[in-house]
Amino acid sequence: MKPFPQLSSENLEDLKVKAQQWSLANGLVMYPPDFQTFNVSNAPITLFPTPIPKTAFEQAQLIQQTYNELYSKIVGDKEWLINEIKQLSQFDPEFTGRLFEIYNKVNEQGNFQPLSLGIFRSDYMLHDGKDIKQIEFNTVSVSFGGLSPKINELHTYLNDSGSYDNDYSYQYYDPEELPVSSSIKKIAEGISKGNYYYNDETDNTKTSILFIVQPNERNSFDQRHIEYELLKTHKLKSYRLTLEETIENTTINGDKLYMKKTMDEISVVYYRSGYGPGDYPNEKCWDARFQLENNKAIKCPSIITQLSGTKKIQQILTEKSNLSKYLNEETVDEISKTFVKIYPMDNSPEGEKAKKLAFEQPENFVLKPQREGGGNNIYKEDIPGFLKTLDEKNWEAYILMELINPPVHKNTIIRNNDIFTNDIISELGIFGSIVFDETNGDIKYNEYSGWLLRSKLATSNEGGVAAGFGCVDGIYLY
Ligand code: ADP
Ligand code: MG
Repeated sequence: MKPFPQLSSENLEDLKVKAQQWSLANGLVMYPPDFQTFNVSNAPITLFPTPIPKTAFEQAQLIQQTYNELYSKIVGDKEWLINEIKQLSQFDPEFTGRLFEIYNKVNEQGNFQPLSLGIFRSDYMLHDGKDIKQIEFNTVSVSFGGLSPKINELHTYLNDSGSYDNDYSYQYYDPEELPVSSSIKKIAEGISKGNYYYNDETDNTKTSILFIVQPNERNSFDQRHIEYELLKTHKLKSYRLTLEETIENTTINGDKLYMKKTMDEISVVYYRSGYGPGDYPNEKCWDARFQLENNKAIKCPSIITQLSGTKKIQQILTEKSNLSKYLNEETVDEISKTFVKIYPMDNSPEGEKAKKLAFEQPENFVLKPQREGGGNNIYKEDIPGFLKTLDEKNWEAYILMELINPPVHKNTIIRNNDIFTNDIISELGIFGSIVFDETNGDIKYNEYSGWLLRSKLATSNEGGVAAGFGCVDGIYLY
């Protein structure tokens, strides 16, 4: 493994400016807090790519289609999944419960679209330096597929221009050591496949894609890169609405969803919002979700696919007997290798063990509720005190997960105009796209769709980039 490039402080400053200007010129950007629309900043990034072993990188990529398939099969096993979701709803009536209610209501009214589009991301850390271990499997609103190729291109540019060498004379990395993620291309392709199957297996470019986004989205450029690719390569127009704006701007005619102003028919509703209770501040937003679900447009993801990504389901799947319902022996082994121990917090023997462990060795665990999007977990020594604030019968709403022990590297981060060199740890996300029939699990399209590396300070528990904890990184393969 090569060490990180060593640069004089003068050259490092020069590198920072080069990275900032490349970012602004090529859309590796985010809106700052309280922004106006003309006003962007370079996205928080590392100046150097972080070393990742080739074998681990390839393993994570190879396994993605199996993960896609696994989640399509869980969703296809509807009776079982619905029973699980019912139980989760009891602990979380305000969010999971309400989503589940909408699912039931749509089913009763019959405007149900059996085809489902998943744009997934499986997140890993390297455990003890070599094996990938899964952090979580995301089935809704996965982000940074749009910015990931951009930072890879930035690192390639810095390398090709000699800027990683103190004398500006040679490429520090071999070009094949710096992979570029295909996530913009492949996520857009996945969405275009949703359009294709909506239109009875034709590439109809008269139907459009609807992005459901958060108000004041700071990460809109990440989404825009996907939209530009949809239009350029697949000739598909896209619209953007927040949940608040949805009722006023869409209409259902027969069983189809249209944009009111243009009467453009929507083939795919792509959710980049709607994954947490904060996305539904009022009833109008819940009405919007019902409106979006109650028609034949293909949802990315459907409610039931969204809920299959909860941490409780992830925990259930770590039990081999459950996993082998869906996969053959060989793939069960491949997938199981990526698991660390996850315990339920219920009255089962495993649950009782977990309740003891949470108090006796909390330093080895993270406690997770059924929530997405960062900032919800309870780490290490905070676990016992937190549990004590709850009624024991509510502990069941959580899972207890063994902590992964990732390698630490010293990389340099730029955030706005600040530059600092620090110990970081990295999380590898692998994207996957799938179109499948929810009623029978029949798979129409299933692909690996690129990757993302995010890094955070080794001293911080959480890693969200948009939340201000982390940054977008690239890979140096060794
Ligand atoms: P969220 O749905 O909020 O993204 P995650 O399960 O991804 O929840 O956890 C958030 C962050 O916490 C991760 O990005 C990772 O940095 C850290 N984390 C979560 N689980 C583990 C674990 N088992 N070991 C080490 N770090 C973890
Ligand atoms: Mg996460």
